[in-house]
Amino acid sequence: MDETQLRLDGNAAAGMLREVFVHELTAARGACASCGAIAQMGSQHLYMYPLSPGAVLRCKTCQAVLMVFVHAGGRYRLGLRGLAWLEIPDSARLE
Ligand SMILES: [Zn+2]
Repeated sequence: MDETQLRLDGNAAAGMLREVFVHELTAARGACASCGAIAQMGSQHLYMYPLSPGAVLRCKTCQAVLMVFVHAGGRYRLGLRGLAWLEIPDSARLE
């Protein structure tokens, strides 16, 4: 079997994306791509101006940008390149 037989259209990820993005994410742990520190998202530092369309979440250890959030023009945009990974507990573990 070659890898083209394993490749699906990105729409096949719809179920996984729907599962991941319904969780409350402050308890999720993430690894900073800059310094490698691992912490819960809720323990990081958020910077935002009142009434601004966006915010920046920075690593509490090295202050690198972890995530950028923008909500404007009827859309949400998330920039996640400051995270090496994000680990979200599934619903079964939270109950
Ligand atoms: Zn860091």
